[in-house]
Amino acid sequence: MKKKVWLRGILFVLVAGSALAMLFTSGGPTCAQDAPAVEPIVPLPALQAADRPKNVIVMIADGCGFNHMTAARYYEHGDQPDPLYEAFPVAMAVRTCASGGSYDPAQVAADFDYVAGGATDSAAAATAMATGQKTYAGAIGVDAERQRVENLVEAAEATGRATGVVTSVQFAHATPAGFVAHSEGRSSYAEIAKQMIHESSADVIMGAGHPEYDDAAQAVEGDRDYRYVGGEESWAALRAGTAGGDADADGDPDRWVLVDDLSEFEALTAGDAPDRVLGVPRVHTTLQQRRPGDAGADAYAVPFNEGVPDLATMARGALNVLGNDPDGLFLMIEGGAVDWAAHSNQCGRMIEEQIAFNRAVAAVVEWIEANSNWDETLLIVTADHETGYLTGPGAGEACTAPVCLGQGAMPTVEWHSGSHTNSLVPFFARGAGAEVFEQIPLGTDPLRGAYIDNTDIGRVIKAALQ
Ligand SMILES: [Zn+2]
Repeated sequence: MKKKVWLRGILFVLVAGSALAMLFTSGGPTCAQDAPAVEPIVPLPALQAADRPKNVIVMIADGCGFNHMTAARYYEHGDQPDPLYEAFPVAMAVRTCASGGSYDPAQVAADFDYVAGGATDSAAAATAMATGQKTYAGAIGVDAERQRVENLVEAAEATGRATGVVTSVQFAHATPAGFVAHSEGRSSYAEIAKQMIHESSADVIMGAGHPEYDDAAQAVEGDRDYRYVGGEESWAALRAGTAGGDADADGDPDRWVLVDDLSEFEALTAGDAPDRVLGVPRVHTTLQQRRPGDAGADAYAVPFNEGVPDLATMARGALNVLGNDPDGLFLMIEGGAVDWAAHSNQCGRMIEEQIAFNRAVAAVVEWIEANSNWDETLLIVTADHETGYLTGPGAGEACTAPVCLGQGAMPTVEWHSGSHTNSLVPFFARGAGAEVFEQIPLGTDPLRGAYIDNTDIGRVIKAALQ
C-alpha cells in the first residue's frame, strides 16, 4: 500500500514538473500555475418557474471564435445578418481560461499578443461547462484537486431526464467525455470510452472512432485501432448487443443498440427508436475534416467522404431517441473538428465544419419548433475556446475582422496561431432560462461586450434542471 502511494507521489511530481516545464517553454500567461483558481463571482439569481426548462440542449463548436463564425457566415450568406443566430434573444461572450487563469479586457486592447497565451484546452473547458467547476488542462470531469465532480448528464439523469452526447469527432474525445466521464487525463481514450459505454447512464452516444474504417471512410486493411471504442472487447460486446449497464436504475442492464451504417443513422431521425443508441459512423477520427485531398483547398472543393452521416442527421436521430422521455432531455452536440481545421489553419475545412455545425443548430431549432417549444426548452450555442487566432487582414496592432468577398467565396482572413487562444468566444441562448445568463455578466469587453464565465453554463443549467 505504502509503496503504491509513494509511487503515485513520484508520478504526480513528474507529471506536475513536466507540465510546469511545458508552461515555461511555451511562455506567456498560463492557466495552470499555483495561482488560486478563478471562481465565478456573480451569484445566481433566484430562478423562476419559467427559467426551468424541461429540455436542455447545449451545442459547442470546438475552437470557434467570433471570427470563425463571421467567416462561415460570409461564405454561407454573404455580408448579411445570420438568419439562424439572429433569432436568439441572448447573445453574449464567454471567458474560457482554465483554473489559475485570467482574462483582462484592458490588456486585450493594449497588447495584440495577450490572448495568444493563457488558453484552456478542450478537456478543462468541457469540464467547466459540464460541471460548473474550473479545472486544469487535460481534466475530464474532475476538479483542480482531481476530485470527481457531477456532470450535466449525471445531474439530468438524477431528475429522470434522457441524456446524450453527439460529436463529429471521436465520442471519447475531450468535449463529449467531459459531459459523461471522469478521468484525470483526456488521452486515456480507451478507459474513457469504456466508462462511457459500460458505466455511464447516458442514453445516446454518437461520434466517430470506428475501428474498422479510416479517415477516408474506407474499410481498414491490417491493424485496427480500437482505442476510441474502449478496446477490442468492448467493440465485440457492442457488436454482439451485450454492452451497457443499468442506465435507468431498475436493476436490469440496458444494452446499447449499435448503429454504424448511414442508412441506420437516417432511419433513426423519425419514427420508433430504440431506448439506447450508440452511434459510430463508419469513419475513424472525424466525419469529414481529416478526409484525404488538398486540406488547404477552398471549402467544398474536395469531395466529401461518402457513407457517413452529417452532424445535423446525428442531432436529429439523437433528439428522436431522447424525445420519447416524458421527463425531458439533456443533450450536448459538438462540432468537434472546427478546432482541428483551425489548428492547421485550414480556412476551407474550418468553414465546412462551422457550416456543418450551423446546419445541426438549424436541425435542433426545427426539432424544438416541431416537437416542443421555447417555453419548455433551452438551447445554448457556444464554443469552448478560440483556435488559430483568426482575424481579418492587416491584424497585428489590433484585431481586425474577416473581409467578405460575397456568398460562396472564401473570405479574406489571417491566422496568428496554431494553438488555442484565450480570446472570448460567442454565446447564444434561446428559450426557457436563456435570460438568466444576462443577469450574471462577469465583465464587459470593449470588442465583444458583456461576457460570462464558462462555468456559468454548468452552474446555471444544474440549478435550472432541479
Ligand atoms: Zn476545444
